[in-house]
Amino acid sequence: MKKFQVITLFPEMFTGVFENSMMWKAQKDGIVELSTVSLREFGLGPRRQVDDTPYGGGDGMLLMIEPLWNAVMKAKELDPTAKVLLMTPRGQRWRQSLAQEYSEAPHGYIFICGRYEGYDERILELVDAEVSVGDYVLTGGELPAMTIIDSVVRLIPGVLGGAESAAIESFSDGETLEFPQYTRPESWDGRNVPAVLLSGNHAAIAQWRADNSTRKI
Ligand code: SAH
Repeated sequence: MKKFQVITLFPEMFTGVFENSMMWKAQKDGIVELSTVSLREFGLGPRRQVDDTPYGGGDGMLLMIEPLWNAVMKAKELDPTAKVLLMTPRGQRWRQSLAQEYSEAPHGYIFICGRYEGYDERILELVDAEVSVGDYVLTGGELPAMTIIDSVVRLIPGVLGGAESAAIESFSDGETLEFPQYTRPESWDGRNVPAVLLSGNHAAIAQWRADNSTRKI
C-alpha cells in the first residue's frame, strides 16, 4: 500500500481532504495510506519551539532544522523507501505528467510543508525533490501537498470509477484540455445543450470536442 505522509504544523487542515470522497475511499479500499506527522511534536523545549529568525536578517520566521530533521527521520522510519518532497515556490512546477509518474512509482512519499518565510535550507540534505504548484506564494506548503496528493492518488488504478475517466481528461497527453460536457436535461430554463452532442453523429461530435478543447487565457 502506497503511503503519503505529510509533515506539517497544521495536521487538522488535512482532515477535510483525507476524510472525504475519493481520498477517503482510496484509503478504505486499502490502496493508499494518508497520514500527517505533527511538526509541533518535534519542537524544542517546554514551548515546543519550531521556528526562529533568519541569520543575516530579514522579516519573518523560518522552520528550524532540528524539528524538521527529526520529523523526516520519524516518517522515514515508518516508510524507509519513501521519497522526500519539499514544497517550495522554487521547486519544479507540478504538472499532470509528474502526477502520472508519481502514481506509478513503487514507493511512498513524505511531504515537507514550509510555513512563515520558509525553512532552514540545511533540510535539503534529506530532500529528493523540490516541488512548486505554481508561480504564486501561499502561506504554507499544506495546500500544495494536498494538491499533489490528490492529483497522484486519483491516478492510482482502482481509485477512480471508470478506467476511462482519467484517460480522456485534460493534460493526459501533455497539453490537450478536456472539452465542455453536459448532462440531462437537454433543455433547462431556456438553456439548451449544443445540438451537435444530441445528433448521434460521432465524427461531428469528435470535431466539436476538438474545436472546444482550447485554453482560456
Ligand atoms: N519566502 C518564501 C515563501 C514562503 S511561503 C519565498 O519568497 O519563496 C511559506 C511556505 O509555503 C514555503 O516554504 C513553501 O513550503 C510553501 N509554499 C508557498 N507557495 C508555494 C508554492 N507555490 N508551491 C509550493 N509550496 C509553496
